[in-house]
Amino acid sequence: MTRPPLLSLDDALPQLLAQARALTGVQSVSTFEADGRVLAQDVTAALQVPPQDNSSMDGYAIRVADCAQEGAVLRVTQRIPAGTHGTQLHAGEAARIFTGAPIPPGADAVVMQEDCEALEGDQVKVNKAVPVGQWIRRSGEDVTRGATVLSKGTRLSPAELGLAASIGLAQLQVSARPRVALFSTGDELVMPGDVAPEAMLAGAIYNSNRFFLRAMLQRLGCEVTDLGIVPDKRDATIAALRDAAQHHDLILTSGGVSVGEEDHIKPAVESLGELNLWQLAIKPGKPFAYGKVNRDGGACHFMGLPGNPVSSFVTFLLLVRPFVLALQGVTKTDIARTDMTAHFDWPRADKRREFLRVKRNAQGSLDLFPNQSSGVLTSAVWGDGVVDNPAGQTISKGDTVRFISFAEWLA
Ligand code: AMP
Ligand code: MG
Repeated sequence: MTRPPLLSLDDALPQLLAQARALTGVQSVSTFEADGRVLAQDVTAALQVPPQDNSSMDGYAIRVADCAQEGAVLRVTQRIPAGTHGTQLHAGEAARIFTGAPIPPGADAVVMQEDCEALEGDQVKVNKAVPVGQWIRRSGEDVTRGATVLSKGTRLSPAELGLAASIGLAQLQVSARPRVALFSTGDELVMPGDVAPEAMLAGAIYNSNRFFLRAMLQRLGCEVTDLGIVPDKRDATIAALRDAAQHHDLILTSGGVSVGEEDHIKPAVESLGELNLWQLAIKPGKPFAYGKVNRDGGACHFMGLPGNPVSSFVTFLLLVRPFVLALQGVTKTDIARTDMTAHFDWPRADKRREFLRVKRNAQGSLDLFPNQSSGVLTSAVWGDGVVDNPAGQTISKGDTVRFISFAEWLA
């Protein structure tokens, strides 16, 4: 049997993303609830932020011309705490002002209170000459009226929620959550809690993929239906897939995508739609499947991940993550690679592009986890990211490598 050539990730990913047409549903959600959601339309400011020129210090609003000499004495004619506004400031006058309060008309600078001395009565001595504009936050310096402050396709994070609130938006229009049906395959799988460690039968292992896949999908804004473990039987697999396709945008499975006798995913999906089994030139993670499961009036996306936990973890991040983001209309789905220095040797180049689990050390370079096997999930916990190492590339201590941070990748 001749083996098909391996497909590079750079060829596979665009093919996959070409299938990920953004879902059409739009939802209006409270800005409080919008963390992690994707904007379905541009957000435009209906006002300036800040709305007026205001003070960035507690102190005195003055006219610079009155204070050319250090030690000028002015009469304090008004007091402007934040939330109020003052009146015209005339020559020889100062206004007691607090952070965030609007600058009164006529004033052109603020002197901080540390540089002033309150005198008897209503007098203040200004001990420092300041330039025009000192300690004034200008109207619109954050946001100008009419500006597009957030664009459609942006994945919202806490800073974006604050910015949307700063222009008065209590509700945001976001893309519908992709509905994802998740299931694991494999008769060896046992759920934690169902069987105690000491009672595990020979050959049984706990289902770990289900836990991280579900959590990763949820972090990416998906609504997950967890269908549990499907037995390694053709009929059961077909029934589970047919059912899931009715009410979901994507079916995601782990395990069973190699082409062994016990792997029923391929024939099951083929009997209900179409399937492409890819042998990707990546390590961990070679087998990967993309297809469609037909349903009344359409089809549901299907993605099959390899069963080995680290393969499943890495292929999810490389392929499923951008896919479910694209379903939500996210415009930027790629992940940043940062140049960093290797503090390890990797003398055996692999034919496949490798994703090596590494951790930043105190010197700011990268240490390598000693066991890079695709079944060793401790590598992903120990590591704080991966080195994206090109096919055929050895690494020597001191070399520059491309690092992907889990903190960003899993966010
Ligand atoms: P498969 O891709 O089904 O051939 O599985 C490859 C390896 O991954 C086997 O050792 C499986 O036991 C293991 N595996 C498959 N699914 C899971 C899972 N959900 N959790 C942990 N290990 C799994
Ligand atoms: Mg299996």
